[in-house]
Amino acid sequence: MWTEGNYRRNLMDMHIDDWNEEFLSRINPEEYVEALADAHVQCAMVKAKPHTGLCYWPCETGRMHRGLKGRDFFGEMVRLCHKRGIAVIAYYSQIFDNWASDHHPDWRLVAPDGRTFREYRHLDQFRNGRYGICCPNNPGYRAYVKANLEELNRKYDFEGMFLDMTFWPEICTCPSCRKRFYEETEGKELPRIMDWNDPDFRLYAEKLDEWMADFAAFSTDTVKAVKPEVTVEHQFSRITMPWFNGSTEMLTEHVDYCGGDYYGGYLQQTFINKYYKSVSPSLPFVYHTGRCDPELSFHTTTKTEEQLVLHAVTALLHNGAFLLVDAINPDGSIVPEVYHGLMKRVYAQTMPIEPFVSGKLNTDVGIWFASRAKYDPAETGNDTEHKSFEPTVYMDAPVGLTSILRENNVPFDVLGAKNLRDYSGRVLALCHVSSVREEEMDAIEDFVNRGGSLYVSGPVGHPRLEKLLGIRVKGKTEHDFTYMDPAEDEGALAGFTKQAPMTVTAPQVIAEVTEGDVQVLATCTLPYAMTGTEVFSAIHSNPPGIHTGEPCITLRRMGESRCMWVAAPIETAKPFMSRQAVRNLIGLLVPEQKWTSNAPKFVEILSWEKNGETFFAAINEQEESPVVPMDDIWIEVTGNWKAVRMPDGEELRTVRNGDHTRILLPKLYLFQILKITEDGPQES
Ligand SMILES: [Zn+2]
Repeated sequence: MWTEGNYRRNLMDMHIDDWNEEFLSRINPEEYVEALADAHVQCAMVKAKPHTGLCYWPCETGRMHRGLKGRDFFGEMVRLCHKRGIAVIAYYSQIFDNWASDHHPDWRLVAPDGRTFREYRHLDQFRNGRYGICCPNNPGYRAYVKANLEELNRKYDFEGMFLDMTFWPEICTCPSCRKRFYEETEGKELPRIMDWNDPDFRLYAEKLDEWMADFAAFSTDTVKAVKPEVTVEHQFSRITMPWFNGSTEMLTEHVDYCGGDYYGGYLQQTFINKYYKSVSPSLPFVYHTGRCDPELSFHTTTKTEEQLVLHAVTALLHNGAFLLVDAINPDGSIVPEVYHGLMKRVYAQTMPIEPFVSGKLNTDVGIWFASRAKYDPAETGNDTEHKSFEPTVYMDAPVGLTSILRENNVPFDVLGAKNLRDYSGRVLALCHVSSVREEEMDAIEDFVNRGGSLYVSGPVGHPRLEKLLGIRVKGKTEHDFTYMDPAEDEGALAGFTKQAPMTVTAPQVIAEVTEGDVQVLATCTLPYAMTGTEVFSAIHSNPPGIHTGEPCITLRRMGESRCMWVAAPIETAKPFMSRQAVRNLIGLLVPEQKWTSNAPKFVEILSWEKNGETFFAAINEQEESPVVPMDDIWIEVTGNWKAVRMPDGEELRTVRNGDHTRILLPKLYLFQILKITEDGPQES
């Protein structure tokens, strides 16, 4: 596939309207492509149709952007890029299409409050009047997308397509959705009340996932029917967003590789890059992020060189391509210096390490991000109109564990459901996974039967998982501020005692132990009074008072495997003491790590195998510029090893520490790569 080794990509964002003569009047494809070539960009994602729905080619379906005055911008870009050896991905906005929504009122997505998107003002999540949203279940809209995609693919030759906005920005209650649900459920109406215990509501949530995957299949198949060799990428960034988005791992069945845009920091990036690497049908996946600091709405501020190097190198070290999302000025002009200067310097630093990446990560803990369980069961009883639009605990818990493992140098990965069966690390972590599907449960049981261990926090998402853990769930505490009381003082919860148990800022699941081989590591303690009322023990706080004796951290040993359950997602804890408790609990499941390090909390160490060789990388993931260089970092590995820095091959200092080799890293600025080779047996 053309994508192999294609790590340096670019997109010029241009969702520009055409009511002002100035708009796109100064567009200059020659200048832009010249700039891309100078920066060593390998692939340009070129806008064919933006969210405005106004085409950038002389289209037969829909309408062309007036500012281009009939000029074939897209065709010119394809020709110029190919002349410079730059691959082209055609950008096409689906669902978000102002022209289609404005001209076809019956195609519009209808929110639970009865409004269509252009009617909203001043709200978040695209509800400000700027975005016209069409329903992907509407047959008329689908026919239009099909005709549009066929036309584009017949007319031009390009390497790939990016089909953007493959998600529900809001629940749709339009006649097409009502009809489809009615027909597929033998006469059911769209549910209005969120109730995760109601089979009809759960069925509806499943349908939203299936419908979006079906729409992705529809547009992918449309492209491939005309051009089988064109690669397809659907927008995958909404995988982090709540259930109603319909963005699930099912989308990976309809793409050649995963890609999506993110505007968070390096913690978010390291989590999502690991997940993309795990679920993408081919590599590299693509990590898109903006030129603007901190995100696209800051049109005129540009990220620092070191920020861009860190984003690009973090993607690269996870087998990902980096795509810079730049933003064109409304008049069509760009800032060519971004490419002749900044991006040229960024890629000069990442290009030399491209040959060493794309191996298999060495990890001990696999955090499962369950894309079919992106909800909080506590969000029950509300009208669908009042659901949370933001990620909740289903996201905070696995990202919380990511942060704790990175800070403590525990080798970890992030997995999708499809990776559960083959995971060869020691521990699978289920951080607040509210429901586990049958086939996922089969894979988890398999993993435990092979000797793998489990860390499960919060809800237990399947009856068979309760069996594995040796517990039975009875309910949930009414208190939303609780404590975990360690069974022994100097165990995993060291520092916490019966008098001063560990604070948990959430309710706890209540369970009883059902198997004799389950050890209780902590029990649940409650405050004297509920929060949020006039009754209290201490006016500013909720000190512990009721020792319930109910188990809240349990550990079951079965042969090689250990199955741990924690009654709340304590991975989201902020206090250092609590984060260390999580680290210690994981330590009980990973007696000896594949490697260890003293790297400070924001320096991430990665290790991977490629063609029988072992590599390490250190990335200085400080969230703010200027990045402070770090001294005296070491990595320790079992056995006798020599280490060289890549790509210059300079030998690094090592010291023997028992049967381990400690590799001493030179001063770390942004990142370092090293390769280790066996040094023969130690002389006695
Ligand atoms: Zn609809």
